[in-house]
Amino acid sequence: MEQNKIPQATAKRLPLYYRFLNNLNQQGKKRVSSKELSDAVKVDSATIRRDFSYFGALGKKGYGYNVEYLLGFFRSTLDQHEVTEVALIGVGNLGTAFLHYNFMKNNNIRITTAFDADTEKVGTDIGGVPVYDIRDLEEKLEDIKVAILTVPAVEAQVIADKLVEKGISGILNFTPARISVPKHIRVHHIDLAVELQALVYFLKHYSLDNPE
Ligand code: ATP
Repeated sequence: MEQNKIPQATAKRLPLYYRFLNNLNQQGKKRVSSKELSDAVKVDSATIRRDFSYFGALGKKGYGYNVEYLLGFFRSTLDQHEVTEVALIGVGNLGTAFLHYNFMKNNNIRITTAFDADTEKVGTDIGGVPVYDIRDLEEKLEDIKVAILTVPAVEAQVIADKLVEKGISGILNFTPARISVPKHIRVHHIDLAVELQALVYFLKHYSLDNPE
């Protein structure tokens, strides 16, 4: 497949480029320079030029990149023509925030199903998403392949095992627990506490004026 030729680091930046170009397109802009892109997405312009060369988009000097061409490429590469459904497990503070947060408005990924163990939450509808009993995971997960994990850390592994058993392909793990899954399952781990701690540490010890 064509996509397989794109390096992973480049692929990770695709959604970032996509979001910005989508905004430009909505404003009626036809072209964009790598400098403009660079300032907006905070990726240096040499990297942007290299990334875009993988997409067959060669910017012209003094013209920049054609916004529509790039958007077309991103849409097909990011599978924007089909909606990807995501399940969220654990409708606590963080999970509830995700259900309410409209972070998907510019792409075709939607949280469509949520699960919790708390009988008070089961049967409710949060941010337009139905909350089902975790015991009904098998029946309600259907063919959803991506899950967001916002359960307590101690529950993470058990839930991950269940998700794997039900045929999940990818897990975005927001719990501090490091989960083990078979090799063919992709897990991305986001620990907000660790990220914040790292930021505070860097602020204290590494000045941006003097990166050395
Ligand atoms: P958060 O961690 O998102 O801030 P919180 O502090 O409100 O949430 P937690 O105790 O972390 O609550 O639990 C997160 C959510 O996960 C709760 O809604 C809880 O009912 C749910 N939960 C706990 N155990 C399970 C489980 N085994 N399966 C599904 N959901 C669970």
